Amino acid sequence: MKHRPLREEPLIFEHNGNRYNRGRFALPPLDVHNVDLNAVLPENQIRQPLRDLPDLGELDVVEHFHRLSQMNFAVDEGLYPLGSCTMKYNPRVNEAAARLKGFTSIHPLQPESQVQGALRLIWELAEALKTITGMAGITLQPAAGAHGELTGMLMIRKALEMRGEHRRQVLIPDSAHGTNPASATFAGFEAVEIASAADGTVDMDALDRMMTADVAAIMLTVPNTLGVFEPRIVEIAKLVHDRGGLVYMDGANLNAFLGKALPGAMGADALHINLHKTFSTPHGGGGPGAGAVAVSEALVPYLPVPRVVRRDGRFVVQWDDPSSIGPMRGFYANFLILVRALAYIWGLGPEGMAETAETAVLYANLVRHRLSGTYHLKYDAPSLHEVVFDDSYQHAHGVTNVDISKRLLDYGFHPPTMSFPLIVHGALMIEPTESPSPEEVASFCEAMLSIAKEAAEAPELLHDAPHETPVGRVDEVEAARHPRLRWEAGEAT
Ligand SMILES: *Cc1c(COP(=O)(O)O)cnc(C)c1O
Repeated sequence: MKHRPLREEPLIFEHNGNRYNRGRFALPPLDVHNVDLNAVLPENQIRQPLRDLPDLGELDVVEHFHRLSQMNFAVDEGLYPLGSCTMKYNPRVNEAAARLKGFTSIHPLQPESQVQGALRLIWELAEALKTITGMAGITLQPAAGAHGELTGMLMIRKALEMRGEHRRQVLIPDSAHGTNPASATFAGFEAVEIASAADGTVDMDALDRMMTADVAAIMLTVPNTLGVFEPRIVEIAKLVHDRGGLVYMDGANLNAFLGKALPGAMGADALHINLHKTFSTPHGGGGPGAGAVAVSEALVPYLPVPRVVRRDGRFVVQWDDPSSIGPMRGFYANFLILVRALAYIWGLGPEGMAETAETAVLYANLVRHRLSGTYHLKYDAPSLHEVVFDDSYQHAHGVTNVDISKRLLDYGFHPPTMSFPLIVHGALMIEPTESPSPEEVASFCEAMLSIAKEAAEAPELLHDAPHETPVGRVDEVEAARHPRLRWEAGEAT
């Protein structure tokens, strides 16, 4: 079991003994003439005296934030098997590359002649990702996977408009990530659910029935969110194309066949790649990520601008193109994330990338092999990089996937993704990634087996878990419905 601070850290406002003057920096007296603020500023812009602010020494502040940082689970701390999210290790060398002064001290408005290296880096990454996916074109602009989905769907909409077609529907399997229907809807389409067959893959009869002249595209996750490869993907793409539709491929799980198979050859017209998943750039919490979108020839004319192109050995920026859907983000998007992704790709090379996928798949199957029989596997098609169990064997003891995940915290592991995909009730979606050692994967399995034993013998231990963390079981419904995100002076805590 890993060390955790045992006490809960109070808010900085609530630290004891902070209501007296600890001494502070001695600034020289104000040497500008007194200005009557009331005469120059409207009343609502004049700050009132601040009350109840904490008054802490420097070390108190450092300790407070350091303790808070220790209360978080991090990818550098242990197995973080959050399925679909791909929480792999971010190699430090990528960070070193992203901190090089030549990358951090440039400005997007600098003349092209001064930033040839940075433009080349963008171009090189685009070319590398085109090779990796087998696609004809790419944009590095979107800030995340979901933003990439929107970008792809807008390109599909524009391509259909140019053909003079007004297809309204987008078919999305019931196992899809929630962002898929959201992005399709945001792009002006109607998301229509298509049921999965008994093995979790696309039901071909349903597809045949639903693929009408009103369908713009199908949005498919490959491998799907059960970690299962869509064996009929080529056939599916052909059927959709034959009836005038396009194929959007959610590539969030690209790490499962990185360096092994080409989405371009499977028939994808648009595919987003979560650089923060497959290519180990930091997960941005919705923030500064990057979700490149690779496209087939059919969508190349509609790629966002600006685009970096190579002309006579120089790199130039194409700011405008009448056929483009326009910019999706300012300038070149999150450039320093792109630096990290290229460092990762070049660091691994083609063999390294293939080995990454092999190891990720091997580990997921190790977990599957160890835990099958103890945890229920609803869909037993072969697993790629993740495996989805559910809590139905533990139900007999009144234990749910929440109890299991909370108890896992006591064993020092981050819980798996829970209750997703929605087609698996009580899901526990485990993705070890290729990063950990085999010993770490084995200890995770031991912890899961030990928890299953506890579920049978002492279920109350699980109901109250976690026991070893500074914060115990929280009221998640209350936290979601009535989040208190702000401290207010004088408020009882
Ligand atoms: C993570 C994920 C997304 C969304 O990507 P973000 O970068 O989080 O916006 C979409 N689809 C699948 C299958 C995912 O796992």
